[in-house]
Amino acid sequence: MHCKIAIDGPAGSGKTTVAKEVAKRLGIDYLDTGAMYRIVGLYLHNSDTDPNATEEIEQRLKNVSIEYKNGRYYLNGNIVGDEIRTAEAGMYASIYSASPVVRKYLTQLQKEICANRSIVAEGRDIGTVVMPNAQVKIFLNASPEVRAKRRYEELKAKGTEVSYDELLKQIIERDKKDTSREIAPLIKAQDSIEIDTSDLTIEEVVNKIIKIANEKCKIVKEQ
Ligand code: C5P
Repeated sequence: MHCKIAIDGPAGSGKTTVAKEVAKRLGIDYLDTGAMYRIVGLYLHNSDTDPNATEEIEQRLKNVSIEYKNGRYYLNGNIVGDEIRTAEAGMYASIYSASPVVRKYLTQLQKEICANRSIVAEGRDIGTVVMPNAQVKIFLNASPEVRAKRRYEELKAKGTEVSYDELLKQIIERDKKDTSREIAPLIKAQDSIEIDTSDLTIEEVVNKIIKIANEKCKIVKEQ
């Protein structure tokens, strides 16, 4: 039986770090769906596309091919790098992800990638839309202040100068956009388990999820 683990939650809740580690320990694949929204968001922004112009977006997406091989993304054959990791790219992802055409396009691709394998997929709508049948559904959360502080430390460690207040503002703005959009808003799936990571270490969160996965999937590899 394939074990499917959906990890959803807002920006800075620890999804990426936790999801990658869970996948590694269980020896199964990992998919970062936010990266796909970032790739498309940046592409559409760079081609001056109006976020509300459905037909224009549809046309542009016809020229887009996203591949996922060995944990790396390729946009039209070119490997995607850190350019999608900036705060601006996160904002473009959030803006264009409200487009029904973008969501349809990426949801389809994500469903194909997740089919017929054990996988940890992280995003905003994995437990609700992409893998509604996942055996394990986790909703990670943390206060906006803790999330902004994490992003701040992360960017500082990479040598990027940012203001904490600006990051907090962006996180609150992005939460608002992500939870209020009409299609696939960021909501906790009814059957998901919520973990508040504000006062937990990464190790503690990972252990909790592995324990749940072991119970639900009768997994695969020893830790
Ligand atoms: O997770 P990450 O911060 O990289 O996601 C960037 C943005 O992409 C989110 O703020 C959200 O607007 C969008 N997204 C989404 N659905 C997903 C994953 C990401 O709408 N499954």
